[in-house]
Amino acid sequence: MVMCTLCKRKEAVFMRRYSGEKLCGRCFCKSMESKVRGTISKYEMFEPKDRIMVAVSGGKDSVTLLHILTKIEKAFPDAALSAVTVDEGIKGYRDEALKVAKKNCQKLGVEHVVTSFKEMYGYELDEIVNMIRQRKKKGLTPCSYCGVLRRRALNTAAREAGVDKLATAHSLDDETQTMLLNIIHGDALRIARAKPVLTVIHPKLVQRVKPVCEVPEKEIAFYAYLRRIEFQSIPCPYAQTALRNDIRTMLNRLEEKHAGIKFTVFRSMERIRPALEAMAEEAKLQNCRKCGEPTVGKLCKPCQMLQELRVF
Ligand code: SF4
Ligand code: ZN
Ligand code: ZN
Repeated sequence: MVMCTLCKRKEAVFMRRYSGEKLCGRCFCKSMESKVRGTISKYEMFEPKDRIMVAVSGGKDSVTLLHILTKIEKAFPDAALSAVTVDEGIKGYRDEALKVAKKNCQKLGVEHVVTSFKEMYGYELDEIVNMIRQRKKKGLTPCSYCGVLRRRALNTAAREAGVDKLATAHSLDDETQTMLLNIIHGDALRIARAKPVLTVIHPKLVQRVKPVCEVPEKEIAFYAYLRRIEFQSIPCPYAQTALRNDIRTMLNRLEEKHAGIKFTVFRSMERIRPALEAMAEEAKLQNCRKCGEPTVGKLCKPCQMLQELRVF
């Protein structure tokens, strides 16, 4: 029997290859929670009186983040925690995830706000996908629309709720994949911007923070399993086999051979970022002519996308 390297009393159930630790269930959960606490304090993500809104899709990462933050925030009685779910309008997928998100919020006693594409933009994602498909032209994918419209919906919901921070569940895997994608696309500005705590560049933008950006996805999944957290696990019907998936596979293969390489990529980016930030001139934001939201051009991205859809 392999014993836990921390408490030395119980049988180990998880092997952290990058650190050599072998952990029992209890020590694993405690180490995960202290890792998130460490990330929060390292990047100064929260103030003791912050009103924090967690973006909860219903998937394992976001539901787990909500559970961990509820635990951490108990030590800060002046802080307030709430959750938001964006219902994109994906039949058989998001409606199920929404139920799971609701159930978790009820269980934890966290206020839950639901906003939807239909309410905000007049269309569900299913309708948008039908409109794209009718055009029979190669162009933007459902995920491109979904990502842009969801980011806007989250910011609007957080702003309307009057919160100070919007916490998202981007894991170490998400972050390293995004970094490599940005390198492939030569997008220095995005690398400069994709920080664990995003710089607020307009008063209408709520500050976004990523408390699990230093936690591997596999460990989030194991924590959810040990804590018996209920989450939705079926994949989105529009999930595509995009470049991101190939990068995920490549990083997982590398991690198998070179334990800890995801952390290496993450730390390298943290080191390179200040140079990129100095190079990248912050874009001046103005108000969108149509909806009044912050944008670099005259029309914001969501308005541009919706306008193009209606033209066809
Ligand atoms: Fe949206 Fe794409 Fe995610 Fe589905 S897979 S929820 S379409 S971003
Ligand atoms: Zn132990
Ligand atoms: Zn607009």
